Amino acid sequence: MAPDGHAPLAPNVYDADPIPDAARAEIDRLLTSGDLFRYTAPEGAPVALLEAEFAALMGSRYALAVSSCSAALFLSLKALDLPRGAKVLIPAFTFAAVPSAVVHADCTPVLVEVGANYRVDLLDFAAKLPQADAVLISHMRGHTSDMDAIMALCDESGVPVVEDAAHSLGTVWGGRKIGTIGKVGCFSFQSYKLVNAGEGGIMVTDDPEIAARAIIMSGAYEQNWKKHPGLQNSFGHWQNKLPLYNLRMQNLSAAVIRPQLPEIADRVAKGRANHDWVADRLNQSPHLAVPPALPQEERAPDSIQFNLKGDWSDDEALGFQSSAKKLGITVQVFGLSEGNARAYWNWQFLGDLPDLPQTRAMLMRACDVRLPARLTESELGYIADAILTAVRDVKD
Ligand SMILES: *Cc1c(COP(=O)(O)O)cnc(C)c1O
Repeated sequence: MAPDGHAPLAPNVYDADPIPDAARAEIDRLLTSGDLFRYTAPEGAPVALLEAEFAALMGSRYALAVSSCSAALFLSLKALDLPRGAKVLIPAFTFAAVPSAVVHADCTPVLVEVGANYRVDLLDFAAKLPQADAVLISHMRGHTSDMDAIMALCDESGVPVVEDAAHSLGTVWGGRKIGTIGKVGCFSFQSYKLVNAGEGGIMVTDDPEIAARAIIMSGAYEQNWKKHPGLQNSFGHWQNKLPLYNLRMQNLSAAVIRPQLPEIADRVAKGRANHDWVADRLNQSPHLAVPPALPQEERAPDSIQFNLKGDWSDDEALGFQSSAKKLGITVQVFGLSEGNARAYWNWQFLGDLPDLPQTRAMLMRACDVRLPARLTESELGYIADAILTAVRDVKD
């Protein structure tokens, strides 16, 4: 083992990707002028350009760049104009920031069971939908829940759907881009997502009223909404009637994000190929199972999730984790790492938590390994071999 604690050949999957060189000149210009606030320039501010480019990329009418995906989720719920205490269905497998955004928006999250394939359980969803005022679908780790079934059920009962596409930039469902199927789609530019700005988020919608309300609440105070294209009547109507939460993005973030947009397609293709290559190897073990993509789904993974298959005790699962660690590969069993923010029983801020046996069983045996798109075939081979060796350490 190397002195830094890494096994000598293990790739470091936690390093972020470098920012394209094209960002430097623009950042330099911004530093020289000091023009970092999105609403100072009369037009053409980097944040406004990012919004136009992202809306075009997604084929959406409106895009609003904000400080994080969590801020985008919060604003989406606020912009739906739900009554205080409204019930919002969310999958029980997601990141703690998602139920937090629901609480922040004065709504009550209702957790829906998730199956062994990490996707919303449609029976539990249909059973809980009658009590819901809105639905927030988190495509956790880029796994798309059945959006055809979910949209059919929600359209029938008139319940609006927000998509948490934080980890799904580039994913396609039945030919449609994830994040454009529900009323609003929210994306993240946090460092461990496909586009890295340290922090940042963006929401897209085709609904002019939702766009106008979200833009004003994000902090377009006084006449600043005039710097967003279209919508004059809607803005005029909502001005001064909504709180200003000040969740704006600043120009430096947009300058870091914009040169990455042309790289998305390439990162998606590489990430998918890497994922599928490692998945094929892991599926050769009788003790592991990588759930396949759904038939309508073209994924954009930057990590891999797999289940410990058959009879595994907690001790065996922990032994597997530590064997992999000795080989330099961090495998996280979601439910077995202390205080994991993706294990719903740790969301104590919600108060009394329901028991969700199906989601719990999945979390206790589902493993998470990062696989950034930049990895080479030999690095992928190292990771797959280390996982298989760690399984054999415990199971043979
Ligand atoms: C990262 C992530 C978030 C939070 O995004 P931030 O930009 O960090 O607020 C929400 N949901 C999912 C599924 C995520 O992966």
